[in-house]
Amino acid sequence: MSEKLDQLKEILGEVTDLRNASAVLGWDQQVNMPPGGAEARGNQLATLGKLAQIKFTSDEVGKLLDELKAEYAGADPGSDDDAALVRVTARDYDKAVRVPPEFVAESAIVTTKAHEAWMEARQKSDFSIFQPHLEKVVDLVKKYITFFPPADHPYDTLLDDFEPGMKTADVKVIFDNLRPKQVKLIKAISQSKQVKDDFLRKKYNEKKLWDFGVNVVTKFGYDWSKGRQDKAPHPFCTSFGLNDVRITTRFEPDHPTAMLFSTMHETGHALYDGGSHPSYERTPLMGGASLAIHESQSRMWENLVGRSMPFWEHFYPEFKKTFPAQLDGVSLKSFYRAINKVEPSLIRVNADEATYNLHIMLRLELEIEMVEGKVAVKDLPEIWNTRMKVYLGITPPNDALGVLQDIHWSGGAIGYFSTYALGNLVSAQLWEKINKDIPDLDEQIRKGRFDALLTWLREKVHVHGRKFDPQDLVRKVTGSKIDAAPYVRYLTKKYSEVYGL
Ligand code: MG
Repeated sequence: MSEKLDQLKEILGEVTDLRNASAVLGWDQQVNMPPGGAEARGNQLATLGKLAQIKFTSDEVGKLLDELKAEYAGADPGSDDDAALVRVTARDYDKAVRVPPEFVAESAIVTTKAHEAWMEARQKSDFSIFQPHLEKVVDLVKKYITFFPPADHPYDTLLDDFEPGMKTADVKVIFDNLRPKQVKLIKAISQSKQVKDDFLRKKYNEKKLWDFGVNVVTKFGYDWSKGRQDKAPHPFCTSFGLNDVRITTRFEPDHPTAMLFSTMHETGHALYDGGSHPSYERTPLMGGASLAIHESQSRMWENLVGRSMPFWEHFYPEFKKTFPAQLDGVSLKSFYRAINKVEPSLIRVNADEATYNLHIMLRLELEIEMVEGKVAVKDLPEIWNTRMKVYLGITPPNDALGVLQDIHWSGGAIGYFSTYALGNLVSAQLWEKINKDIPDLDEQIRKGRFDALLTWLREKVHVHGRKFDPQDLVRKVTGSKIDAAPYVRYLTKKYSEVYGL
């Protein structure tokens, strides 16, 4: 290994330390911190963030990268980890130095105010409070795009921050293919006999649900010597290194079993974060290929595993023993149908597997149209409601339950939403391949065994960290680019069984 690479790695190690220290503070902010700590914490996070940024965008790093790019010009970043480190770091560096510090500071001010306005607007269900702020956010996003070389579509620049290498045109093709099939499936479901799920709305003991979830994810392979679970208002996963990856969950009294599924979901993220190759520790190669690939992991453990029949064939007897009064007279089949109930709903985060992607498509279309200047911010509520009616057959009674429900736009995160739906698609693509490679996987899950599944994911996906772009990783593992067909097959098969279509 060259001396220059050693020098670069030393700086990157320190940058990573600063960012991980910020992550610890961020975790504490959401899990432990009293409200009074907010202002001091904001300052601490800003200082650490600035130090990391100064260190990372220094001329020294730029010079080392230039020299290393030349040195590794002939190496294949797909097989040579050092070449991969240079490629990924150079890309991060190029992005970081293109955006002027004054713009970063201006963005922080605009989005802080926009976030406050959004909270008030949502609480009062009054879009006019948020509108001028969102207009400023959209202007900022358009300005951000100008810092980068012109792309095929201006939205490509935004998407690339979350899905490296992904193009707007690719996403459009995938979703245009998916949309009519999902709409048709939902229509067929809505015309069939509805599923009873009243027993899921009863009172469940929080501690018992927590313990049940802990037992499940321990069997998945979550290592408690390298992680922990806490409660947070919005569940998330965070990592401070490969050997300290933490999850959070929440208890919702009206929807108690959500706690269990949230634990499984965040464990999917955690297993991925902790699974990078050990040599990637303290480098930009640590972590996940993209948000979509990350979400493919969380959705897989939550849905393809956690809402499957084989999973509940194993766990239901114990679950029923834990909650005998709530599940009195409820058969395994009734329980399975209830946790897979499909119901077009207004709120994205509560949407079931069959309807979820339509919530995403609506947001993606609006984001693209805003960036293209085809949709004005002031018209968003009306367009939102019209399209909800077309896609899901329901109309939000107010903007809090419509266009104001998500936090993302207030923080300037335009380009983010599609990653959730792409994650669903990738989870099903991987699942088809896994089931070919492990033909008795259902049988193993029925016995409560997940080791072969986790080993497969570790070897094919997790170990690579950020080495490959998402499309390249999916192609490498499954032989095809991100594709909607496996997800459509999965949904159709599952819901044909659940609803007898
Ligand atoms: Mg997630």
